[in-house]
Amino acid sequence: MNPLSQLPAVDRLLAEPAVASLVDIHGRSIVTRLVRNALAEAREAIRAGAPLPDSASLIAKIDKNAKAQAMPRLRPVYNLTGTVLHTNLGRAPLPEEAIQALVTAARSPCALEYDIESGGRGDRDDIVNELLCELTGAEAATVVNNNAAAVFLLLNTLAQKKEVIVSRGELIEIGGAFRVPDIMKRAGARLVEVGTTNRTHLKDFAEAISPRSAMLMKVHASNYAIQGFTHAVPESELATLAHENGLPFVVDLGSGTLADLDAYGLPHEPTPRENIAAGADLVTFSGDKLLGGPQAGLLVGRKDLVARIKKNPLKRALRVGKITLAALEAVLRLYRDPDRLHERLTALVQLTRPQTEIHAAADRLLPALQAALASRPVTVEIVPLKSQIGSGSLPVDRLPSAGFAVRPQGKKGGVLNRIEAALRGLDRPVIGRIEDGALLLDLRCLAPAEETAFAANLAGLSCS
Ligand SMILES: *Cc1c(COP(=O)(O)O)cnc(C)c1O
Repeated sequence: MNPLSQLPAVDRLLAEPAVASLVDIHGRSIVTRLVRNALAEAREAIRAGAPLPDSASLIAKIDKNAKAQAMPRLRPVYNLTGTVLHTNLGRAPLPEEAIQALVTAARSPCALEYDIESGGRGDRDDIVNELLCELTGAEAATVVNNNAAAVFLLLNTLAQKKEVIVSRGELIEIGGAFRVPDIMKRAGARLVEVGTTNRTHLKDFAEAISPRSAMLMKVHASNYAIQGFTHAVPESELATLAHENGLPFVVDLGSGTLADLDAYGLPHEPTPRENIAAGADLVTFSGDKLLGGPQAGLLVGRKDLVARIKKNPLKRALRVGKITLAALEAVLRLYRDPDRLHERLTALVQLTRPQTEIHAAADRLLPALQAALASRPVTVEIVPLKSQIGSGSLPVDRLPSAGFAVRPQGKKGGVLNRIEAALRGLDRPVIGRIEDGALLLDLRCLAPAEETAFAANLAGLSCS
């Protein structure tokens, strides 16, 4: 008898109790498609000489594919890379206050562009304008999709068909194709580079100023450091020079924290408040780097310049939604209480976590990792590590941390790549890093409250 004709019909498979319960979960349309696919694959295999599959194996395949297609693509992972603000892993985790606020904003209508007092139309920037001014000392603020958008909008508004003078040492590329010269070109501005890679002086800027100049610009070289025989012009001198020539002085700060990081034992990072105090007319920075908030680009500074920027029609194209604003407002409110910021702002909690505490977490989790890797030819030990802030912040400074080093027994390095892949294949993927012949798992970003679930998740390794 032809085995093809013995395959069950689509309807018969759909009527099987196991498949019917999949229909309850995933819906008829998806499950019907998966049933058809499974039958088509079986026919193909039979034509190639495979035996007739039994219903149980067909159903198992349908079940597996149903689970796979239901899995969200934007999955939570454990960030054990040692890079706290990891751009590819979503940068800053939000504090609970921001999560509550964004959930509420998502669920209900809210006064996004509505003035509750007057009943008239409002401005969505007003939600965070006062807070941003209070926290930076600026006169006005506006918010767009990210810092790249803020820089673009600023240049397009104030420097179209004009020249922007920037130090050659600051013509940076940020991961993910943000290059200052490219943004400048797309914004319609002409870049005038001054100085050399390592040294730029005030007279280099002064000599470049012409009737075509739109502004002097400083780009915070956030993801690398030039060391040795270097010179950069202090911001206050650039501001004075710009103002003497009737030009604005603008700063792309990149990672903009609103707090004084030294107060929390972290290396100093310049703040928008310092830029404004030094005479900057506009400062742009990211919402999801050191600030610890949602993805956003914040632009603060002189009222007249912010007003011009807000009138640019591209502002409408780059604006943020209510969910972002809800989270941003909540995060900015936390900054009003600097004494408790390091306990409440998740990014800062992670950045200030003491090495001894991280080491203690490693002690607690070592048995779970050893058990999960028991069948593999590796050793596991607790080691001191150095975390980095990430997202281009403070590239040279490292934070003392701790975690696990998994090393191959003998010379077979391939085992590390297999374990690294198996960790990525867990229900909740665990992302570490391979460095100097070891797979390193930095525990800085694993919250104590997550440890139990983390250990349970690791157990999946022994089955893979
Ligand atoms: C990160 C960064 C940007 C880009 O900011 P996004 O928020 O990622 O768009 C631009 N300039 C500097 C100096 C940066 O550090």
